[in-house]
Amino acid sequence: MHEQSAADPTLAPPVGEPTEFDLPSLEQSDAAGVETALARNRAFAAAAGHEGVTVFPTLGLLVIGCLDPRVDPAHILGLNPGEAMVVRNRGGRVTPEVIDNLAFVGQLAENAVPEGPLFEVAVIHHTQCGAAALADDDFRRAYARTINADESTLREYAVLDPAATVANDVERLRSAEALSPRITVSGHVYDVATGLVETVIPVRRA
Ligand SMILES: [Zn+2]
Repeated sequence: MHEQSAADPTLAPPVGEPTEFDLPSLEQSDAAGVETALARNRAFAAAAGHEGVTVFPTLGLLVIGCLDPRVDPAHILGLNPGEAMVVRNRGGRVTPEVIDNLAFVGQLAENAVPEGPLFEVAVIHHTQCGAAALADDDFRRAYARTINADESTLREYAVLDPAATVANDVERLRSAEALSPRITVSGHVYDVATGLVETVIPVRRA
């Protein structure tokens, strides 16, 4: 048994304010592991959850989000199988790899859909994001050495103010030459205290 967090949601900073990330102690985690997940998979298949699902996302949506387990787009956006593509990384940041992935999907979509909109991209950053750790000099330097990366680039991927970083990443996508102008982009912040997503940068229609 573990207790529910008694955090007062009214203490959460409003969207756009810097947020702190606290790593809870591991005794709070329910470390059941892959066996639990595999058992759930068998139930999913037995209930025919995979049947009739097509490869083109039926909502015409691609979500970019953080790998934090609290912010899985399937859950917070109620996405069913086949409805949306999802790219997740630390912070939900638009890195060169993310742009490469979107260009790949865009090229596939252009082959299937010769004209008109291809798909929408929703970038979602969130409060209390662990990517705030990249603003910590000691953490970032050690991590940069571990992955042999440029430290100053990593600093740019910190998420302290999700409304600001999501706006930055929407602009990064809109100005990416590798991406088709037939892909529309919007930016949002998910508040882990309220469970609500707020749009920061709306879709810009041509
Ligand atoms: Zn995060």
